[in-house]
Amino acid sequence: MALTDSLGRPLRDLRISVTDRCNFRCPYCMPKEVFGREWAFLPRREILSFEEITRLSRLFAGHGVSKIRITGGEPLLRRELPRLIAGLVGIEGVRDMTLTTNGSLLGRMATGLRSAGLTRLTVSLDALEDGVFRAMNDVDFPVERVLEGISAAAQAGFSPIKINMVVKRGVNEQALPEMARYCRAGAHVLRCIEYMDVGHSNGWRLTDVVPASEILAILGSKWPLEALTPVYFGEVASRYRYRDGGGEIGIIASVTQPFCRTCTRARLTADGQLYTCLFATRGHDLRALLRGGASDDDIAALLSALWHRRTDRYSERRSAETVGLRKVEMSRVGG
Ligand code: SAM
Ligand code: SF4
Ligand code: SF4
Repeated sequence: MALTDSLGRPLRDLRISVTDRCNFRCPYCMPKEVFGREWAFLPRREILSFEEITRLSRLFAGHGVSKIRITGGEPLLRRELPRLIAGLVGIEGVRDMTLTTNGSLLGRMATGLRSAGLTRLTVSLDALEDGVFRAMNDVDFPVERVLEGISAAAQAGFSPIKINMVVKRGVNEQALPEMARYCRAGAHVLRCIEYMDVGHSNGWRLTDVVPASEILAILGSKWPLEALTPVYFGEVASRYRYRDGGGEIGIIASVTQPFCRTCTRARLTADGQLYTCLFATRGHDLRALLRGGASDDDIAALLSALWHRRTDRYSERRSAETVGLRKVEMSRVGG
């Protein structure tokens, strides 16, 4: 029987963070003032090996996970990543193998990722104007290199590529039309994400959020849009198609239109902590089990018990009381 949580939600997706490190310092995720020279990243020995990740993934698949997303930090910084992907795609029940990246290293890695069996790819890109992009990654990284990475990925056969754009008030909402134009021209799917209060270090304010309704109005005034019905339970983005046949867009409105009721996602950090919500304040230590000699049956039983009693619905409860919580950082849990 399918495993469901206390709100009847099945376990379908596993998001695996393969590193807590990143070469960008996007202020909405890893602000420099917090993630500076002094920041202690995880030492090598604390990070799960590929064998440990694969073993856990197999146990998750046994409980109904059919989709795996590799993320980070910046996942392409993890050495030999295609080897991990090749192992994961071989797991029985895993039908969809995806990855989210900032695109900075994609130019030289796209072909290897494709050959390893990655089925889909999401690239984060917040603006096309070089100055705005450099300010948003806060390490002066040129937008051209990410655009080259996206072209390399398209050439390697990823199609369509999803382009994640976090929209922040006063920072990049003006870039929405040109981002849409770029995606329409390249047959990519633009996914606009409301700026979220993940972690506790990005200084999130509700006034910095550009609501989905406004994003829709901006894009719809240029290219009329029509809502699409979800194709599966647990679809995160609300999808719309351009009436002129120019493809589709997605909007992830975690703040103004929470979708906890259909949340089927579990998240594994690079050091083997399991989180059942993006906004959780505590995880469950699977690494201790792995390294303490637990059997597959022991671990599978714990996963089942944890999912069974899951009650998470943070976005629906978001309020003045939840603002000060010490939530797990996005760069650790992987988005
Ligand atoms: N480094 C990779 C990247 O940027 O694509 C993968 C990890 S990143 C944490 C995953 C996704 O989370 C990215 O698309 C990023 O833009 C998004 N993200 C990070 N912080 C966010 C925030 N505060 N609100 C909304 N989305 C955020
Ligand atoms: Fe790095 Fe991605 Fe976070 Fe930006 S959003 S700092 S690229 S992990
Ligand atoms: Fe899922 Fe938590 Fe996000 Fe709700 S707030 S959709 S439970 S990750």
